[in-house]
Amino acid sequence: MVRTRFAPSPTGSLHVGGVRTALYCLLYARRHEGRFVLRIEDTDQVRSTDEAARGILRDLQWCGLFWDEGPVSQSQRLSIYDEYVEKLLASGHAYLAWESTEELGAIRKAAEEKKETFKYKRRPVSEDEVARWKSEGRKPVVRLAAPTHDVVITDAIRGDVRLAQTDLEDIVIRKADGFPTYHFAVVIDDHLMQITNILRGEEHLLNTHKHFGVAEALGFSLPETAHLPLIFNPKGQKMSKREKAAVAREAARNEHKVRKAETFDWLATLCDRPVADVAAFVAKQHDRVDTAEAIGKALNVELPLIEVMDFRRGGYIPEALVNYMALLGWNPGGEQEILSVEEMSAAFSFDRVNKTAAKFDPAKLRWMNGEYLKKLFAHDKERLLAVIASWAEVAETPIRALSPDHRLVLVEMYKDRVLTLSELDKAAAFFFVRPTSYDAKAADKWLRQNDGLAVLGRCLEALADAAWTPGGVESALAPIADGNTGRVAQPLRVALTGTAVSPPIFDTIAFLDRTEVLARIEGCLQAHK
Ligand code: GLU
Repeated sequence: MVRTRFAPSPTGSLHVGGVRTALYCLLYARRHEGRFVLRIEDTDQVRSTDEAARGILRDLQWCGLFWDEGPVSQSQRLSIYDEYVEKLLASGHAYLAWESTEELGAIRKAAEEKKETFKYKRRPVSEDEVARWKSEGRKPVVRLAAPTHDVVITDAIRGDVRLAQTDLEDIVIRKADGFPTYHFAVVIDDHLMQITNILRGEEHLLNTHKHFGVAEALGFSLPETAHLPLIFNPKGQKMSKREKAAVAREAARNEHKVRKAETFDWLATLCDRPVADVAAFVAKQHDRVDTAEAIGKALNVELPLIEVMDFRRGGYIPEALVNYMALLGWNPGGEQEILSVEEMSAAFSFDRVNKTAAKFDPAKLRWMNGEYLKKLFAHDKERLLAVIASWAEVAETPIRALSPDHRLVLVEMYKDRVLTLSELDKAAAFFFVRPTSYDAKAADKWLRQNDGLAVLGRCLEALADAAWTPGGVESALAPIADGNTGRVAQPLRVALTGTAVSPPIFDTIAFLDRTEVLARIEGCLQAHK
């Protein structure tokens, strides 16, 4: 039976590239009536956090990518890895190595100076040396002797990939802290979990040769691999979380110049973070995403969307994101672009996955999101409401306070004008705040000329006891419009929004409370006396 696995490391939140990997794992498993396993690779004690692990599960669920088995955490399986390390030590495939990080760094540097690439190979050590290191309290790592022959991996997407024996090294399989390395745990787990197909990003392609060495020493065979093409941003660079830091940093530097400030106190206050943190960030000493986001928010600059949460907060529909990611590097054949997970899994195969990097196109994703917005509104309002609710949970939006019915009315007004829920939020902002100023051109044209103020005065009276539905409002205003809706619509738009644009005017009025509409008209008349 086909068994795939998605194996994220919980060192940060889920990158959109991870969505594609998880999706392909799911599609391939579904296509072959297999199982899709979720494994949390948290053997890096320093960088892994439970919070990140929880975030990854939440993001996968938000995407609708549900696993059949797991999550299994590697940190819960340490005794299993130990057992295999001991086996390899006993069989002589593995050995203890005592160099400190500094010593290794020095050896590597010396090799670089000679323009050689350093590949660790076993070095003879005397018993005295070992005794000295032990007495110094050094902790050894365990290394695996590399295969004694060239290694060829046959990848389902990349074909045969050969690595010469001289390019292989004795990899660490157990670190000094007693934890297994990724390269080791991955092989043990894929074997014990009976994984048949490994799908992962291309950055892991050459790691497979290391994994081969572990598998060979233990007498396992590796699952078939499929390495997925990299994802580039529109500028043609690898799409990475660092992009967010770069954009936030540039904004901070520009603002700093404008302010001619000496220190970064101003920025620390604006984003409510320690000065040392923001100063170090601007000086490029770190690229922390939370600092980048705080700065972005404080300076009101939009950061690139990279992680799943960015898309959720940005008002994307999970089905649209998943559909878009599916097509990023895979071509299902045929013209159809809007595909359900069922349709995708029916068509999924590795021979239609590209070898070359795929370019992330935000405009295409937004288009697709708009399609899903209309589609859900037409066919699945319940699902649409669930999507809006999950967005409102993480976005700062007044839409959060609206009832489900009102949320749907809002989408109905805007579904042909916006592509994402964030755009809806922006476009509909005027519903939630009274205008405090009026666009001068619009006011001149629609209030001062064409009798607009007098029209508004009459509207005020007519609306005082109109039936409060779009139809009711329309009939109450009909005598004033006198066959020309624009005559009432434009002055009312200025009064209600401060500009000359809004959705259809009767819908707009009925969406607001009567008292609010009357107050806005009165306020506008006052302001233009
Ligand atoms: N834990 C690895 C990562 O997050 C995944 C490696 C794999 O799929 O084998 O990059």
